[in-house]
Amino acid sequence: MDKDTNYVFIICDCLRVEQAYDTEIMPFLNKLKELNSSSDRAYTNAPSTHFAVPALMTGFIPFQRTRYAGINDDNSDEFLAKIFQEQGFRTYGITTNAVTSRAFGYNYGWDYFEDYWGDMKSLNEVKKGIVKSLPEPIREHIIKPIFKMLRGKVLTPVKVKEDIRGGKIVKTLEKLQLKKKTGNFIFLHFMEPHSPYIPKELSKKQQIKAVELNNKLQYQPEELNEDEIKDLKDLYIQECKDLDKCLEHVFEALKNLLEIDKTRIVITADHGEAFNETGYTEHKTDCPIDNMSHLTVPLVTVNLPLDKKNDYWSVDINRMFNPASKGFKGTERAICVGYKSLKGSSVKKKKYTTSYIFDLKNSRKIDDIASLPFKTSSSKSDEEILEGISI
Ligand SMILES: [Zn+2]
Repeated sequence: MDKDTNYVFIICDCLRVEQAYDTEIMPFLNKLKELNSSSDRAYTNAPSTHFAVPALMTGFIPFQRTRYAGINDDNSDEFLAKIFQEQGFRTYGITTNAVTSRAFGYNYGWDYFEDYWGDMKSLNEVKKGIVKSLPEPIREHIIKPIFKMLRGKVLTPVKVKEDIRGGKIVKTLEKLQLKKKTGNFIFLHFMEPHSPYIPKELSKKQQIKAVELNNKLQYQPEELNEDEIKDLKDLYIQECKDLDKCLEHVFEALKNLLEIDKTRIVITADHGEAFNETGYTEHKTDCPIDNMSHLTVPLVTVNLPLDKKNDYWSVDINRMFNPASKGFKGTERAICVGYKSLKGSSVKKKKYTTSYIFDLKNSRKIDDIASLPFKTSSSKSDEEILEGISI
């Protein structure tokens, strides 16, 4: 690994290809795309952050190593931050996503890590996670009716969104004190396109309508009509535009911080987002995988050429710049693993189980993870695992 190089890894949570590659919506990203390298064939190995980011950051398919979300004793040896650090790089991680914060073990292997944990407002996302983890009857009969009653009056989504704005990342990045202009690994995780979709510049009236729609999206998605889904998508598009401005500012900051010609940059998403194309919204983890807007991700790279003929899955994206890997030699693990949490466990120690495994390339469902070789505590070698997967 060449320490005369920098590596920058940018995850844009929930960013769909359709919007990412639209020059009207994300002009800066598309300028990068034109001048550098991109793929129309990038996919996620998991339908949501809990297991998609670990796939990107460790190179292991969901449930290959661990049944817990995030970074833990089962997969921390392969965590990119630690690997880069071991190779002599200085490592910097900045995230506005509570799911990639210290609560889920991501504060490991960095010389500098910022998850804005000191700002208690960021706990809103964790609180949302706690609500989601409550047993279905409680959510159905207590939480949902309360929110139905308060819909339009509850402004929590605005507060949540204020606290996860990418501007925070830009400000933190600008102030980084790097020792050298090469030999750095920088990870940035943006949340703009993630629900609630409350773009920055809304009038008070628009904001109230957006809050009402987002509350309905979260608590009664099955009651959304077509017009409401279209309105939500418009808000989402506005969030993508905000994200594009953040990315432009990130690049200005990177040019000041690093030798940009010696910097390899990957911009992608952990997963996409659904707007009822196939009967669901957002990015569900426990339903049939047939929504490509949810599972196809943008992939734009700088100083790291992509092959237009290749498919790039989350674990392949990891291989492209993981200093411990032997490099990317074509798709290895073309499957997406859906999952659900096991009941009765606390948020932090929550265990998950697979609910379906889908071979997207061949458009077919694989019924049982037990029939695949990558069980949680697999004693098989990597070669044996790969052999089993290419069925
Ligand atoms: Zn995500």
